[in-house]
Amino acid sequence: MTISSNTALTVATALSFLRDELTSLQAYTPHPGGAVVQSVQIEIDRVETNESPYDLPPALKQELAQIWVDEIESNRYPDGGHDRLKGLIATYASESAGSGVSIQPSQISVGNGSDELLRSILIATCVGGAGSILVAAPTFSMYGILAQTLGVPVVSVNRSSLNFEVDLVAAQKAITDTQNPPVRVVFMVHPNSPTGNALTTAELEWMRGLPSDILVVIDEAYFEFSQHTVVAELVQHPNWVVLRTFSKAFRLAAHRVGYAVGHPQLIATLEQVRLPYNLPSISLAAAELVLKHHVSLLSAIAETMSERDRLSIVLTAIPALQVWRSDANFIYVRIQGVPNPDLSMSELVIKLKSLGTSIRHTGGGLRISIGSPAENQRTGARITQLLK
Ligand SMILES: *Cc1c(COP(=O)(O)O)cnc(C)c1O
Repeated sequence: MTISSNTALTVATALSFLRDELTSLQAYTPHPGGAVVQSVQIEIDRVETNESPYDLPPALKQELAQIWVDEIESNRYPDGGHDRLKGLIATYASESAGSGVSIQPSQISVGNGSDELLRSILIATCVGGAGSILVAAPTFSMYGILAQTLGVPVVSVNRSSLNFEVDLVAAQKAITDTQNPPVRVVFMVHPNSPTGNALTTAELEWMRGLPSDILVVIDEAYFEFSQHTVVAELVQHPNWVVLRTFSKAFRLAAHRVGYAVGHPQLIATLEQVRLPYNLPSISLAAAELVLKHHVSLLSAIAETMSERDRLSIVLTAIPALQVWRSDANFIYVRIQGVPNPDLSMSELVIKLKSLGTSIRHTGGGLRISIGSPAENQRTGARITQLLK
């Protein structure tokens, strides 16, 4: 018997063992850049996922390949303790936080992307009816998506439409009002995605005043661009944890490595709930390699920052766009002065893609990653052309 697609559909709707809440879940959409290149047959500038536009230098790729040949035994499990990598991360995290800060390897947990750490955090704090989470929209969608997959309630408050600061009055009220289960984790992003704003003095003060039974996650995925970090303050706040990633400035999105820095007891729990061999040996080796070469790799950031400022000027000259200041390697804009901005932005994204530039429409606006100088030049010119 052949199974027609219709039959398969009928079977799918009959899978009543699946949790109801997952059937309505909107999954994260991975970036479609690769697929588009083939179907449209033009080269696409992928300025939509905030990766570095630059691959590792050939010499480093060669070195990594050699490690794979000489040192990695394919038949053996990877180092499940990540000891060497944790040592290097502890040194880097200490340096990044300024003089006098000493982060220990016992304060580091390494994940398969910081996405895995987000999930471990939710498992450690909220599952089974133990807690709700608080997010401020628009923000990184994975907090809410992962919470929903685990049956954790998501409480959302707004941000200012002027500068995207969290509505702290609403956030405080949400914490007071949310019971059964109470808010156990607050997600703050420094700087926020998609809006690009770093935490303000008022937000930091509010976080410092949160009670010790609420965990504050400070997602510093864009730290290398913003140079703003709260790592130096961790010692005073056992209920804070900082997340970082190798997917952005460190050029390792393909390898899926992120890390958490926090109180040793929280870290020990994150280690307990993660999968035993969560990172392939080659990814561990890649992360160790980029940390050893971090000074030269991160020197490309200066170009990204000046390119951001240049593209920002080009976009600001377009009257139809509202453009915000960014502390990261992307720019957030909205179309203004039209009856239906979201529709106009959807149309712009489609037209831009047909010209060869892929950007992201999210959180009621457009997020444009900084690419190579040539890509940024085309991005600016194409958006100008389409909106003039
Ligand atoms: C890109 C990004 C991450 C990184 O996720 P990985 O799983 O480490 O690739 C985390 N948080 C935010 C806000 C991001 O934009």
